[in-house]
Amino acid sequence: KIFPGDLSSNPMQRNTPKVLFSTVSPVGFPNPKLIAFNNELSEEIGLGKFKEQDLDFLGGNNLPKNIQPYSTAYAGHQFGNWAGQLGDGRAIFAGEITNQFGKKTEIQWKGAGATPYSRHADGRAVLRSSVREYLMSEAMFHLGIPTTRALSLALTGEDVVRDIMYNGNPKEEKGAVVIRTAESFLRFGHFELMSAQREYKTLQELADFTIKNYYLEITTDGNHKYKDFFEIICKKTADLIVEWFRVGFVHGVMNTDNMSILGLTIDYGPFSMMDEYDLNFTPNTTDLPGRRYAFGKQGQIAQWNLWQLANALHPIIQDEKFLEKTLNEFGDYFWNAHDNMLCQKFGFDKLLKNDEEFFTNWQGLMQELQLDYTLFFNQLEKINEKTDLKALFDEVSYTILDNERILKLELFIKNYSKRLEENSISKKDSIELMQKANPKFILRNYLLFECIEEINIGKTDLLDKLILALKNPYQETFPEFSKKRPAKYDNIIGCSTL
Ligand code: AMP
Ligand code: MG
Ligand code: MG
Repeated sequence: KIFPGDLSSNPMQRNTPKVLFSTVSPVGFPNPKLIAFNNELSEEIGLGKFKEQDLDFLGGNNLPKNIQPYSTAYAGHQFGNWAGQLGDGRAIFAGEITNQFGKKTEIQWKGAGATPYSRHADGRAVLRSSVREYLMSEAMFHLGIPTTRALSLALTGEDVVRDIMYNGNPKEEKGAVVIRTAESFLRFGHFELMSAQREYKTLQELADFTIKNYYLEITTDGNHKYKDFFEIICKKTADLIVEWFRVGFVHGVMNTDNMSILGLTIDYGPFSMMDEYDLNFTPNTTDLPGRRYAFGKQGQIAQWNLWQLANALHPIIQDEKFLEKTLNEFGDYFWNAHDNMLCQKFGFDKLLKNDEEFFTNWQGLMQELQLDYTLFFNQLEKINEKTDLKALFDEVSYTILDNERILKLELFIKNYSKRLEENSISKKDSIELMQKANPKFILRNYLLFECIEEINIGKTDLLDKLILALKNPYQETFPEFSKKRPAKYDNIIGCSTL
């Protein structure tokens, strides 16, 4: 087989034939309590500033007569296996809004009740995962990374039971609903579903729709159009993952149903920002011991997912050589973009021949000295001839920097200084490159954890502070956030997907 797991040879059953969506009504929560509202986003998409009566809408009540909520069907590969039909199990579209400049934005409730695609689950969301999505998607946006966004976060007023065992008992958690937005929520999985069902006409219509609305740069016709589409989504996906590497974001569940056809970060589940640098780090406790979705594997996994998309688009592209070639080029494109990104983090104006070796040595140093990924680069900016390296890097290491380790660090810094001399830009411009590429604030997992604990007892001080900090991630708004993770949080990783 040219394409692994060729879907067209594996037709499957589904319960909603010949459709991509179903109309759905949100359950409606009579007493929603607003926790956060994103006025900036609301104005940008054309909804205007928050008004009291909007609370009804946020909670899915008394909906305007002119909207018809719906959920979509998609399929996907989960953890490397074909999972058949999935769909929006707890996401319901309110529709699409056009702003004054003609820009369209889709709006969804997440956690507003079951849909035809919920399978055996309840369509609800808990406060914990809703806070995480609200804050992290906004943090990614302000870091400059393509992402879905969050408009509101509200408590539903009902409790949701999750069978996560605490002291042997299922735990009740506060229910919440997030409204999220995106130019489009279309995923690789939408194309996979049509292809697996051999609904090639609908597949083609879906591709035409996507290109016409979101790929305005494509001007070709016939199957060239779909080839261009595939080439561009490969690049967009690679660029996105490079951005994740830049800031240390680990998605945690890169299933093909969680891959955006626009190259957005989508589906915030057990994600985590990385504290200590570790290529094997996964925040997803269901991804052990395989670590399929570990930090360092995200490029390879993106490529694997693009293979599945290639399979899905094969019926309308019909050129295996082209698809294979494009997929094989992904690696070169990705690593080149990745290394150029690292150059910026280090303040190098261009990638040189020996940089790959330099980066490999650096990775070894980071892993061995258990250095904080973000803070390491912040410290690097501060170095001059008089710097006490041990003192500077003790602050950002999660282990003891003994003499042997300090010697390795000194050697690395010596090589780094030598490498900086090969720059053709000034020291000032080099620092500027670094400041643009290296955030000073990242939304660390323990901060989310603390914030959720606070909201659970009715406090929002930390939430308010985090919202301020994440809006200016390249500045230090609150010095207490520019420190490594406190030791008491060493064992809190990620978050359950639910
Ligand atoms: P995820 O791992 O978040 O990508 O979810 C995988 C699938 O399960 C998607 O189709 C979701 O819509 C669905 N799903 C996750 N949580 C729920 C829930 N609480 N209720 C209904 N469907 C869900
Ligand atoms: Mg999902
Ligand atoms: Mg999810």
